[in-house]
Amino acid sequence: MFKCEECGSVKNNVIIKQEEIIVMTEKFTITSNICTCICGNEIFDEVLETENLAKAYDLYRMKYNLPFPNEIKETRERCGFSQKKLAKILTCTESSVKHLENGALPNEKQQEILKNFVRNIQKPVPNNALISYLQTP
Ligand SMILES: [Zn+2]
Repeated sequence: MFKCEECGSVKNNVIIKQEEIIVMTEKFTITSNICTCICGNEIFDEVLETENLAKAYDLYRMKYNLPFPNEIKETRERCGFSQKKLAKILTCTESSVKHLENGALPNEKQQEILKNFVRNIQKPVPNNALISYLQTP
């Protein structure tokens, strides 16, 4: 519950609203959850804003075929790389790698490196392929 600066009420609602968010100078329209007071005043809610921003980041990732944070982490772990080692590859700090794996957006140079990193690491054989391989006489 947040106190409204306009009317002093602590009665909040969450409304759904189409919103434009700028990611890397590009506009993305998302369906946002916005905290509002019963008087109609919009109230800043950090948790909701973080979720809204994450949606816009996901649209950006989908548009540019960028790996998602969990894919970065999974690929790194599959390679047996520490966050420190990936930081060296990306020429950034270890804490930047932590942020990337928690949802931060990589800069343009890192985007290219990460795309190749995730794409070039051999994926495990899919189950169907494995089954047909085992069934081949
Ligand atoms: Zn109010």
